[in-house]
Amino acid sequence: MRNTSAGVDIEVDGEANQLRQFVVALKRTPPPLSVIDSLEVFERTADGFTQFVILPSAPDPLAFQPISPDIAVCPDCLCEMLDPTDRRYRYPFINCTNCGPRFTIIKDIPYDRPNTTMDVFDMCPDCREEYEDPANRRFHAQPIACPVCGPSVWLETDEKGIPPLPDEISKAQYLLATGKIVAIKGIGGFHLACDAHNLEAVKRLRERKLRVEKPFAVMAPDIASVKVHCKVNALAQALLESPQRPIVILDRKKTVTLPQSLAPGQNTLGFMLPYTPLHHLLFLPPSEEFPFMPPQVLVMTSGNKSEEPIAVTNEEAREKLADIADAFLMHNREIHIRCDDSVIRLNPASGKSYPIRRSRGFAPFPVRLPWKMPSVLAAGAELKNTFCMTKDDYAFLSHHIGDMENYETLVSFEEGIRHFKRLFRIEPQVIACDKHPDYLATRVARKMAEDNQLPLVEVQHHHAHIAACMAENHLPAEEQVIGVAFDGTGYGDDGAIWGGEFMIASYQDYQRVYHLQYMPLPGGDAAIKNPARIALAYLWQAGLEWQPHFAAAQAVCAQDQLTLRAQLERAIYTPATSSMGRLFDAVSALLGIRTKITYEAQAAIELEAICDSVEQSSYPLEGALPGQNLPLHTGQIALTPMLAAIAADISASVPAAIISAKFHNTIAELVQQACLNIRQISSIKTVALSGGVWQNMTLLWRTARRLRAAGFHLLMHSKTPPNDGSISLGQAVAAYHILNQR
Ligand code: ZN
Ligand code: ZN
Ligand code: FE
Repeated sequence: MRNTSAGVDIEVDGEANQLRQFVVALKRTPPPLSVIDSLEVFERTADGFTQFVILPSAPDPLAFQPISPDIAVCPDCLCEMLDPTDRRYRYPFINCTNCGPRFTIIKDIPYDRPNTTMDVFDMCPDCREEYEDPANRRFHAQPIACPVCGPSVWLETDEKGIPPLPDEISKAQYLLATGKIVAIKGIGGFHLACDAHNLEAVKRLRERKLRVEKPFAVMAPDIASVKVHCKVNALAQALLESPQRPIVILDRKKTVTLPQSLAPGQNTLGFMLPYTPLHHLLFLPPSEEFPFMPPQVLVMTSGNKSEEPIAVTNEEAREKLADIADAFLMHNREIHIRCDDSVIRLNPASGKSYPIRRSRGFAPFPVRLPWKMPSVLAAGAELKNTFCMTKDDYAFLSHHIGDMENYETLVSFEEGIRHFKRLFRIEPQVIACDKHPDYLATRVARKMAEDNQLPLVEVQHHHAHIAACMAENHLPAEEQVIGVAFDGTGYGDDGAIWGGEFMIASYQDYQRVYHLQYMPLPGGDAAIKNPARIALAYLWQAGLEWQPHFAAAQAVCAQDQLTLRAQLERAIYTPATSSMGRLFDAVSALLGIRTKITYEAQAAIELEAICDSVEQSSYPLEGALPGQNLPLHTGQIALTPMLAAIAADISASVPAAIISAKFHNTIAELVQQACLNIRQISSIKTVALSGGVWQNMTLLWRTARRLRAAGFHLLMHSKTPPNDGSISLGQAVAAYHILNQR
C-alpha cells in the first residue's frame, strides 16, 4: 500500500474470490475518516506478498488529493486520556488515525509527517513503534505524539496568587474560575475564554475585545449541559456531537441560567462541544488532591480584536491579545493555516443543517459539482469572504477568511490562495470575481488575471448567490430556476445597490424580473450602521411623515433631521437600493427595536427575535390585497403601501411583536406571489433561495411553507452558507458557464 498525492494505491494478492470480497469490504466498511470518491480495480500478476507494508509516499506532481479537515478527538483517544495507567494520561495532544488536526497542520502533500507542522518533533521509540504497527490505531497517524516526544502546553501570565496546582491547565482553570480571561490556543487559532456564568467577566471581555453586542459562542462539556440551557433536537445533537464539532445555534430555553449578555437581543445561543483533548481537560477537576470544579460553560470566542483575523501564532497572540487576555494557555504545535470555528443553524423548512459559516471541520473538503470543468479561481465577496478553486468536478471552497476590510485579512486571503494552489496542485485557467469595482477581492482578482494573462469573468453578486445554491443542490447545467436572492448589499448591473431580487436564472445567465422598489440610502454604505436614518429615508421616499413618536425620528436629533431631509430632497449621495436587508433594518428602526447597530444584520436579527409566532395577518403590497397579482409591467415591488400600514400600526400602538409578524408574513407572501407570477410567464417550478436574509429562520420557514403549498420545488442551502460565504462557489460555476457560452 502507498499514499500518492492522487490518493492511495493498494496491492493485494490472493484468491479471486477473496479479492472480490476485499473490494466489497473496502466499499462497505471503509476506515472511519476515509471518503471513497472513486475506486478503480486492476488485475496484475501476484507478487507473493507475505505481510502488510506501507511504502514511502509517492508524490505525483500533477495529481491532487483531497485533504482531510480537522477532526474532533475520538472516543478511543478520550478513554486513554482519562486512564491514569495510560502513557498519554491527561495528555492534551493525544490523537490517532481517526482523529486530530489535519488541514491546519498540513504544509504540503502527500500527507506525511515531514509535510506537517509536527516535523519538528522527533518520535520517541514508543510512538515510533505504534506508528509502524499496522495493527495499531496510530499506524501512520502523522500527528502522533506523547508527553515524552510531542508538543506541550504552558501558561503565561502576570496574575499573582495562583495556588500550587498540579499543572498548567489547572492554573488556567483556576484563573477562569476566578473571572479572568484566558487566551487558549486551539486547532485553527486562539480562543478567548471566560466563565460564561460570570457577568463581570463577560462584560470585561466585551469591553476589551471591542465587541459590544455581537453574540459570543459558548462551550459546554457534554450534551446534557447544553440541554440545561437550550432546546436540542436529534439533528442538533448529531451536529453538536459530529466529528466536525461546529457551533450550533440553538433556541434558548425559558429556564436558561446563562446571562442574556452572551447574546443580547437574541433568543438563541451558539453552543459547541469540546473538540480538542485540551478542551476536555478544561472541564475536568484538576486532580484528586484538587477536586475543585472549574466553570462548566465557557465563552469561547475568536481570539481577535473586533474584526481582525484570529491570532494563530504565539507571538501574534502575545502582541494582539495583550490588552484582552489576563493569561495565555500556549502550546508549541504550530498552526499552519488559520481556521475559524464553523457555525450551523437548523433549517426547520428542510430538516437539514444550514451552515452560517463553513470552516473548521468542513474546509477544505470539496463540494462535488455535477460536471467536470477547467480550474477556476473565484475571489468571493467583501464580507464573510471565502475563495473557491475548482478542479474537475470538485469545488474547493476555502475556510472562512473574514471581512476584507483590513490589511491582515487581505494577507490571509492571499496566503490562503497560495496554499490551496499548492495543496491541490491547481493552476487556475480562469479568474472569477464580483462586479463591485471597490471590493478588495475583486481588485486582487483583476491583478491576478492581468499578471497571468487569464480570462477574468465578473459575476453579478445575486446571480452568484443563486448559482451557488443551484450548484450545491447538484442542479444540472441546462436547468433554470426562479432565483430569490435577498441580502444586504450587492453591486447591481445598473450601478444601484441590489438585494431584493427575483430572477429567472441559469448558471450562465439571469434575467431580473422583480426587485424591491428603489429606496434612497443616504450616505451609501455608511448608512448601514444607522437603521434610524434608513427608516426616515424610506418614509420620506414613501411620502410619509417623520412623526415625533416614531422611535426612528427620536433617534435622529432635530438638526440631523434637517440635514437628512435636505440631503434626500437634493439627492446628495443617496444611492438607490432594492436591498431586502435594508428594508428589515428600516422596519426594525421604525419599531424602535434597533436604531443603531454594532454588528452586521443586528437590527434584522432582533426584529426576528421579537416576532409573534401566532399572528397570521399581513400588510398590503402595491395597494393590492395579498394574493392578488403583482403587476408585471413595472418590475418594481412598491413598498409604500406596506410602509404606510406599518406607520399606521405604530401610531395605533399595535405591539412591535405583532407588527414584526405581519411584516414577516408580508415578505413570505410577496415571495409566493412573485414566484407564482414568474411561473406563469416561464413555467419554471423550481425556486432557489439564497442570500444572507435567508438566515432569518422565521422568514425561511414561513416562505417555504407557502411555496410548497403552491407546488414549487425548493432549493435551499445545506452544505454551504446562504450568505456571502458561498459567493465564491457561485462565481466559479457561473464563470465557467458564462465562458462556455461566449
Ligand atoms: Zn483518536
Ligand atoms: Zn512519543
Ligand atoms: Fe450577498
